[in-house]
Amino acid sequence: MTDKKETGLDVMSGDGGYQEAYLADAIRFKMKRDNKRFWAGDNISNYVTEEMKHKLIDEATEAFELVLDRLLIDRETDPNSQGTARRLAKMYFNEIMAGRYDPAPCATAFPNDSEERYEGMLVVRSELRSMCSHHHQPVSGVAYIGIIAAEKLIGLSKYTRIAQWCARRGTLQEELCNDIAREIMRATEAADVGVYVQATHGCCENRGIMAHSSLTQTTVLKGAFKDDVGTKKEFFDNIKLQQDFAPR
Ligand SMILES: [Zn+2]
Repeated sequence: MTDKKETGLDVMSGDGGYQEAYLADAIRFKMKRDNKRFWAGDNISNYVTEEMKHKLIDEATEAFELVLDRLLIDRETDPNSQGTARRLAKMYFNEIMAGRYDPAPCATAFPNDSEERYEGMLVVRSELRSMCSHHHQPVSGVAYIGIIAAEKLIGLSKYTRIAQWCARRGTLQEELCNDIAREIMRATEAADVGVYVQATHGCCENRGIMAHSSLTQTTVLKGAFKDDVGTKKEFFDNIKLQQDFAPR
């Protein structure tokens, strides 16, 4: 392999000088060695390059084929099940769990420190698609992200990009709400941030209690959103106005 370094596949050589059979195993061992957490909701983009993704998708395809076989689904003659293993593998890496493997969206910050700086509250409504890490069932809803701008501003679409990057993983809604608040604070360097997420869960609708239209709400408030009654009220009044304008 002459292009080992370029593809990042040199990770296949274990520290002990042996080759791992699967790239996924080699990466897992490396993360364990580094004490890097790799839970369903964690971003591991530092360990997975674009080149590696192709190989990881091949490996996951093989594993999904085995799952289908164990489920006694005929993937040889059933035309709808032919290629399902690869579709699943690609969907996990490129879509429903993309936020684990992709680096944070780049959010260029613009200065907000002139005399005419914007000092008001900004509330952005972001549509979310996520997945529960317990059953891998879909979670869909909206996040309302409130912020009192600090010395930096990011483009409006970036709030949604960041929220979706956090959502496209295996999460719990409580965790997701925390993750969005943390990443928005990181990108904007703002201390005053509020995140309100409202979502329905496939977990409750498709299985278990089979409760349709189950709705779950979570709120994370930081800085003035937590400590100042007026700011908190303004945030929730804004959410109400947004909901009146664009019903969920
Ligand atoms: Zn679940």
